Amino acid sequence: MAPILTSSKFTDRVTHLQPEGAYAVLARAQALEAQGRKIIHLEIGQPDFPTPKNVSEAGINAIRAGKTKYTPPAGIPKFREIIAGYAGNLRGLKINPEQVIVGTGSKPGLFFPTLALVSPGDEVIYPDPGFPTYEAMIRVAGGIPVPIPLREENQFSFDLDIFDAEISDRTRLVILNSPGNPTGGVIPVDDLKHIASRAIEHDTWVISDEIYTQLVYDNIEAHSIAELDGMLARTVIVDGFSKTYSMTGWRLGYMIAPVGLAERLELLITHATGCTAAFTQYAGLEALTGPQDFVSGMVTEYQQRRDRMLELVNAIPGLRAQRPQGAFYLFPNIKSFGLNAKQIATRLIEEAGVAVLAGTDFGAGGEGYIRLVYATSMEDIEEGVQRMAGWFRSL
Ligand code: PLP
Repeated sequence: MAPILTSSKFTDRVTHLQPEGAYAVLARAQALEAQGRKIIHLEIGQPDFPTPKNVSEAGINAIRAGKTKYTPPAGIPKFREIIAGYAGNLRGLKINPEQVIVGTGSKPGLFFPTLALVSPGDEVIYPDPGFPTYEAMIRVAGGIPVPIPLREENQFSFDLDIFDAEISDRTRLVILNSPGNPTGGVIPVDDLKHIASRAIEHDTWVISDEIYTQLVYDNIEAHSIAELDGMLARTVIVDGFSKTYSMTGWRLGYMIAPVGLAERLELLITHATGCTAAFTQYAGLEALTGPQDFVSGMVTEYQQRRDRMLELVNAIPGLRAQRPQGAFYLFPNIKSFGLNAKQIATRLIEEAGVAVLAGTDFGAGGEGYIRLVYATSMEDIEEGVQRMAGWFRSL
């Protein structure tokens, strides 16, 4: 039998860590499937499109050409240069290749800047509900998590009154995510301006998680706080290839930071992962320099799926979902049913065979909501929401 250790053997840095809710629900769905049940998956935030062929081919060709050795820790110089141009164009910013640090997904772009910037006892503001990695990494760094509730009626942007009451000279870092997981909300520019002015006033850093920045609908644009006066020097922009190019398993992303911080991040990468797989970087190079119609085609498809899911969900008496402007999540309000989010999510998978996440998998502020993913086929969206409709009616 494998030896079992109690948590008292470990440091405070790791004892608080929890799995991501999505993995737990996926495991339950798979267990039910093994019993012969048909489960509709609306829980995993992963594009259902294959990686574009030209991108996969570039990775395969790189392996064939022997690109299987270490690269510089911050990434292949040509790739950093291409990312600087691409990410800069997207946001109307001048970005220097030295500011770009390539990582194994976007997650290092959340983790390493937090380690580099947050000392024990520093406060960190972040969205609630929000991507679970934010709170995890704040705690690993020894920081004090300061969750700020999001407001459904304002595109799930921060409650700015609470934000103003919480930000202070003790705040070292503010984490933003727009378009956001789990809500699909895009932070309005006026809110970004407000947040930027407070960040400057209290001399805080910002990590801006922009991995859904190209998944926006209705012809809107998701702006980066780094575009605002004085913000590029205090912001780490985090982006990657998982969502935009359907490359979740390749593990490829990047962070863009002011040069002095970028050097520290490069050193963290040097000692933590060494570098990102060379052939993955060549695939990423092709993704950015090859044809971009894959991205626009995917966005068009997501918008149709969003519209259909929204229509079906809002036709269920008692459910109410806002029209999300980005990402691939719907975050319906379930408060009228008198059950909490976890109860509803659990009963939906057990009784209706639909896997969804409870809003509380993303923090206490997610109570009263469930998260539905529309990065899945139209048939599954229709069947999943129809099953939900039947189940909610039966309550
Ligand atoms: N940030 C957010 C908001 C996410 O939703 C995810 C993945 O779901 C990530 C970061 C991590 O993505 P990656 O695969 O690039 O590490």
